Amino acid sequence: MISIITPAYCEAENLPVLHTHLQAVLQKHAQPWEWIVVDDHSSDHTFEVVSRLAQNHENISAIRLSKNCGSHVAVMAGLRLCSGQCAVVMAADMQDPPELIISMLAAWENGTQVVWAARRHREGETQTTLGFSRFYYWLMRNIIKIKNIPPRGADFFLIDKQVIQALNQFDENNISLLALLSWVGFRQQTIEYDKQARLHGQSGWSVSKKLKLVIDSITAFSFLPIRVMSVIGFLMALFGFLYAFVVLTNRFLNEPAQGWSSLMVVVLVVGGLQMLMLGILGEYLWRALDESRRRPRYLIEQAIRMDPVVSKTKT
Ligand code: UDP
Ligand code: MG
Repeated sequence: MISIITPAYCEAENLPVLHTHLQAVLQKHAQPWEWIVVDDHSSDHTFEVVSRLAQNHENISAIRLSKNCGSHVAVMAGLRLCSGQCAVVMAADMQDPPELIISMLAAWENGTQVVWAARRHREGETQTTLGFSRFYYWLMRNIIKIKNIPPRGADFFLIDKQVIQALNQFDENNISLLALLSWVGFRQQTIEYDKQARLHGQSGWSVSKKLKLVIDSITAFSFLPIRVMSVIGFLMALFGFLYAFVVLTNRFLNEPAQGWSSLMVVVLVVGGLQMLMLGILGEYLWRALDESRRRPRYLIEQAIRMDPVVSKTKT
């Protein structure tokens, strides 16, 4: 059995098209397949559309989350519910060609446990989106040292059941699934493809969601910002002592230091840096507190061919 997992936020128009393509592609493959759609609390008719499709196709199941949690949480919800020997995670908007699943399955049959479909080229994205994405993946690979993550990014991948079981053991709430998947290891391989433009609708990834993902990814895998804070603090203190020495020497040479402006610069720079550092500490602290509450990552509002109570606890 092969599981296809699709997080969907306002994808009512795209899902039937994706289903037709999936059917066409997977019919060629002898193995049975299931399609799990996780409706991330869409404000359109996404869930009704999936319900209608599920009435005619027994291999479709779906859940609707009780609020918008972001696609990474939606995918993790799907991973808890799937029963395939492997799972392919793909978006609903037809940006990722379903035909590539065949190549991904071939790599998996050859023993690869994580097959990344990495984008060689991205159609229909603004320069800002591309720049932001490039910076994010550069940061993850070179600063946070998550080396497995494809340099140009990926959100279309296949994972083996063993990896699914490993991922299901992680209960963290504020996490980037892609970074976690790179971090867990196993046998990983990348194949490249050209990402198409979105078929209908617009991206559900708002700027604030992207910003949260960046901070989540850094705080979850690195203490580098805290180390940088210590180094800056040390250097500033050192500079302060040296400057004090210069001021005192000048005092004895009868050239007392002058200047309200220089004092203000120091007060503002040091004050600003201290607040920034408090903010960074706060980001770590808030996440520690949030995890310690152990709230469920998501709640299920509706389910098709799944028992919402059982599915929530099934691992
Ligand atoms: N998505 C989701 N919840 C969200 C945002 C997006 O489930 O809050 C889904 C979306 O429906 C799509 C996939 O995640 O199937 C990828 O999102 P999108 O296409 O909006 O992102 P982009 O392609 O711009 O990175
Ligand atoms: Mg998309």
